[in-house]
Amino acid sequence: MTTTLQSIIRDAALAPEGKLKIDWVQAHMPVLNRIREEFERDQPFKGLRVAISLHLEAKTAYLAKVVKAGGAEVVITGSNPLSTQDDVCAALAEEGITVFAKYNPDAAEYKDLLVKTLETKPDLIIDDGGDLVTILHSERRDLLPQIRGGAEETTTGILRLKAMEKDGSLQFPMVAVNDAFCKYLFDNRYGTGQSVWDGINRTTNLVVAGKTVVVNGYGWCGKGVAMRAKGLGANVVVTEVDAIRAVEAYMDGFTVLSMADAAKVGEFYVTVTGNKDVIRGEHIANMKDGAILSNAGHFDVEVNLVELAEMSVSKRTVRRNIEEYLLKDGRKIYVIAEGRLVNLAAGDGHPAEIMDMTFALQAMSLRYVNENYKEMGKQVIKVPYHLDEQVARTKLESLGISIDTLSAEQKAYLESWAAH
Ligand code: NAD
Ligand code: SAH
Repeated sequence: MTTTLQSIIRDAALAPEGKLKIDWVQAHMPVLNRIREEFERDQPFKGLRVAISLHLEAKTAYLAKVVKAGGAEVVITGSNPLSTQDDVCAALAEEGITVFAKYNPDAAEYKDLLVKTLETKPDLIIDDGGDLVTILHSERRDLLPQIRGGAEETTTGILRLKAMEKDGSLQFPMVAVNDAFCKYLFDNRYGTGQSVWDGINRTTNLVVAGKTVVVNGYGWCGKGVAMRAKGLGANVVVTEVDAIRAVEAYMDGFTVLSMADAAKVGEFYVTVTGNKDVIRGEHIANMKDGAILSNAGHFDVEVNLVELAEMSVSKRTVRRNIEEYLLKDGRKIYVIAEGRLVNLAAGDGHPAEIMDMTFALQAMSLRYVNENYKEMGKQVIKVPYHLDEQVARTKLESLGISIDTLSAEQKAYLESWAAH
């Protein structure tokens, strides 16, 4: 292993501002603080290099510091060209972490920074949406042998990993962090629920109450986005392709429509499906003048921006992170943050207390894979239940909440088939 490499960042002078941001979140991440103490004591990553690709803002920076505290040499890059914060990168680089990331690189540079991260020959990886895994399993297979395993952050990344596992392509174990209870129940639902509206509100500075919000997809993220839209006073419409989730949305009190119908009524749209072309030309053709489109799902594929551009006579930036498309018939359609994750590209992402649990799971999963990779096989691995429970217990403790325990009699009663 070599020593810390030269970082590639926008501006080292931004470090003091980034450091303040990291200090603020650290004070609100008690579960991760506890893990940092364990890591400092046990040094689980001593002598290893860890490559991280995550939304490079303050909470992620603190995770990187915790992994470093565990003895690792950390190399970090972004996981979305618009979610990297240059001041946070500068602060991390000052802390002896190698940073290959900038806000808004072009597509080639974004890719190059990911590749450079992998060229440092990490032993372990943390991925978000599968960027690192895809490069390792396609054009840079030469970098595969050193990798022991890693952990994946998000729903779509895990879908991709499962497809790779199924056809035998996956070359090392990856822990499915998203599928842990303390991840999707809180991060996808309450994290996305709050941070999407934070992103939309701070970007548009428009009222939500009384307006019609269309939420595309009623999965864990969609439930949170719809719930919080209701709390802001919107009329909420949900679209789905899954019959059970559509009934769930209906029973939760939302109007369920096909996208063809929802296209006619929405003032705000939020896609959260992980799918492509959820909003496309045929929908935009029927939208209200002034409709605002945003995505909180995967990359920039959920809103078909190519079709929108083809229907438009011009496009201009009308406010930071808002583009106005002038359609041939005179209507205007607005798109936030180029159709990339609105909560991260036009905001700071999920709050610290939410990422506290997610990143505690990431840190523990990385340790788990490092300690067990030889026996794991080239598979997608579940986060062990006891780690999930440990996060919940530490969270409760930090909140000063105690819960009850089963008596021996109650436990026996629950486990007995003959009990009445
Ligand atoms: P999920 O699988 O729980 O839900 C996705 C839902 O979308 C499903 O119910 C599915 O039936 C529905 N869907 C699929 N195609 C559709 C279509 N064409 N029209 C309407 N509905 C459709 O997944 P999730 O955990 O809610 O995650 C959704 C996406 O958000 C993923 O890409 C995930 O990686 C991403 N994500 C983003 C954030 C964030 O911070 N913005 C946080 C977590 C997850
Ligand atoms: N990289 C892809 C994949 C979606 S990322 C993309 O940019 O489209 C979605 C993940 O972002 C979620 O699983 C969530 O855990 C993570 N996330 C949300 N807020 C975050 C924050 N403040 N910092 C780091 N990651 C965050």
